[in-house]
Amino acid sequence: MKKKPGFALKNSNLRKQAEKLLAEKPVKVTAKPKDINKLFHELQVYRIELEMQNAELLAAQTQASEALERFTQLYDYAPAGYLTLDQSGVVKEINLTGAAMLGKPRQFLIGYSLVTFLPCRKLFRDYLNEVCRTSFNVSIELEIMHADGKLLDVQLESRRIRNGNEDDCFIHTIMTDISRRKALERTLQQQRANMEYLLQQQVAAQTASAIAHDLNQPLNAISVYSEVAVRYLNSGSENADQLKRALIGCIDQAHRAGQSLHELLDFLHKGELIFEPVDLNRLVEEAVMVARNDGFGGFQPELELDYSLPLVLCSQIQVKKVLVNLLRNSVEAVRESGQANASIIVRVRTWAGSNMAQVTIQDNGTGMDAETIKHIFDPFFTTKPTGMGLGLAISRSLIEANGGQLWVESDAGQGATFHFSLPFAYL
Ligand code: ADP
Repeated sequence: MKKKPGFALKNSNLRKQAEKLLAEKPVKVTAKPKDINKLFHELQVYRIELEMQNAELLAAQTQASEALERFTQLYDYAPAGYLTLDQSGVVKEINLTGAAMLGKPRQFLIGYSLVTFLPCRKLFRDYLNEVCRTSFNVSIELEIMHADGKLLDVQLESRRIRNGNEDDCFIHTIMTDISRRKALERTLQQQRANMEYLLQQQVAAQTASAIAHDLNQPLNAISVYSEVAVRYLNSGSENADQLKRALIGCIDQAHRAGQSLHELLDFLHKGELIFEPVDLNRLVEEAVMVARNDGFGGFQPELELDYSLPLVLCSQIQVKKVLVNLLRNSVEAVRESGQANASIIVRVRTWAGSNMAQVTIQDNGTGMDAETIKHIFDPFFTTKPTGMGLGLAISRSLIEANGGQLWVESDAGQGATFHFSLPFAYL
């Protein structure tokens, strides 16, 4: 073990002082040679004891300075800044990490107010007051200005330490760099804002699509009735009955368009949708009734309803809209396949799946080939001369908004079977 130079110097000084003291009070030796021998032995033993104590002391001193070194390292290079501040925010002590976060040498910072590094000083002063008022840890997130002018997001966590009397205290503070977390939060916020914007756009597009879809059919019918009326007038016929029928058709269809628009506006103004426990069988019956009265009727509904079906949770208006869309498509597909009106059969079945209720709408119309099936849920895909290609796209997004799924099974010439599922109201 190495002797510290300071220790040797101290020893030689002590020796000089001891000689001086002895010279001031000289001791007269009257002992006999036998006693001197004994005394000499005692001194030898005492010297050895002292040397051993000395070695122990040296070892303890080395250990203490090594421990100090370790703790200093731990303090200085901790992954957070450690500061001791006075009540007004003046830096009394700071570790190297803290100094690096502020971008100044430590010796420069001692005696400097932390406030000078903060763009939002009032916030920090209020924070210090709060820390001084309570005996708990108080934390805050704020920005500090690095010496190079860049802003850094930090979290301060501080605790008041009493310094003897009541009013005097200092503050221990941990300063943690949270700029990565803050950057991530900002990115997430931006993404959320983008998502909301996209969603709003989607809702706007869907609303516009729904209006177009609901108005398309009556407008087509009005155009057909008007053509009939014009043709009749051009023919110069005297019988007004046919003209009257065409005009009444126009009026009915205009009413129907107006009603659709009203329903849609009502539905939009309601704002938030009402999801409630619903009897799916009753909804199917109501939808069939709407479909039959809605101008494209003339079909035979075959209902196979499971009357033990538990209630489902959904928006009635939306699911009824889907049912009417699917029924209308089925009727049109059967009609297109060339069968007489009387033989149009649309089978609707409700049944309970493992954890969802299911509805199946089956027709024996044209059916679809695999290539058509790939696209039928795409907006604006249609194979009909006056089709909008929106019914299925809207129906699928409505069913999904209600927590279910909509899918199809079909082969060309074999009719089509559409299924959708909805969650039960009570599990
Ligand atoms: P639209 O009825 O205006 O064409 P939809 O989105 O409701 O729009 O339907 C898209 C296409 O899906 C239809 O044009 C048709 O080709 C096909 N389709 C939908 N339902 C059936 C069905 N039951 N049978 C055969 N084809 C269907």
